[in-house]
Amino acid sequence: MNLPLTGGCVCGAVRYQCDARPIAMLKCHCRDCQRVSGGPHVCAVLLPSSAFRFTQGMPKYYCTSSEGGGLHRRGFCSECGSRLTGGEDPDQPRDFIGVTAGSLDEAGWFAPEMELWTCDALSWDPPRADVAAFDKNPPDPQE
Ligand SMILES: [Zn+2]
Ligand SMILES: [Zn+2]
Repeated sequence: MNLPLTGGCVCGAVRYQCDARPIAMLKCHCRDCQRVSGGPHVCAVLLPSSAFRFTQGMPKYYCTSSEGGGLHRRGFCSECGSRLTGGEDPDQPRDFIGVTAGSLDEAGWFAPEMELWTCDALSWDPPRADVAAFDKNPPDPQE
């Protein structure tokens, strides 16, 4: 993985950069992630908020209620609809921001360390057996 990490949406209106290595890498199988992505799970990289910034444009946000309380804020490009960020709570700042692995300019190094919300995993997209799996969120909420 080469720093800084860069990425953005398919139309180029929103771009981001992160100067530090990821805190964690995960796959989330929850129903909300299925609906917003259109796929069976979302691959996400958690980046330290202090090292992350948007370098062009800003995403539009949509919030859903979070199982752990509060809201789950997900960001997407308002021009092209590409899903970009997640894991944030607008009312409770966290020290990380999630970005979708597929939005990274180079995503070949992505290696999930945990599978979340395996209770919602679809039979045709089973969680990996070689990483930690959680029925819902892990003990330290990182949805
Ligand atoms: Zn876009
Ligand atoms: Zn999810």
